[in-house]
Amino acid sequence: MPRAPKIKSITAKLTPEQKKHYDNLMAARDAVMGRVRSYAEDALDCSNADKRGVTTHMADMGSDSSRHEMGLQLMSEEGDVLELIEEAIKRLVENKNYGICQDCGEPIPPARLEVRPYAVYCTKCKSIREKSGGNRLR
Ligand SMILES: [Zn+2]
Repeated sequence: MPRAPKIKSITAKLTPEQKKHYDNLMAARDAVMGRVRSYAEDALDCSNADKRGVTTHMADMGSDSSRHEMGLQLMSEEGDVLELIEEAIKRLVENKNYGICQDCGEPIPPARLEVRPYAVYCTKCKSIREKSGGNRLR
């Protein structure tokens, strides 16, 4: 098993605090990957239905197709989140400003990191960015 020792050596260098963030990031990555997989299966089902020209169930399909569109949108958002998570893991294990706001340089509140371990902005800077139409995922 070549993968296990590598992970162990990465986490062995981390402080207990960093280890907690690392575990959170791994859990978040697993959760996102699981959701992406289920969206992909959903999208596949719907496109097969379209090809068969299923028009008799239009009334029923209404909610399905909006769910489908939402799924596709979420899928691309999850892809962005996955990138953020990978970046965050890299910053954490390389000890490069993980948990530090990229805008103001202040530590990101732990409560925010709990919910969003891949956050790169503090709560204050994020709300400023949201108002100016920046990337709301971060
Ligand atoms: Zn900030």
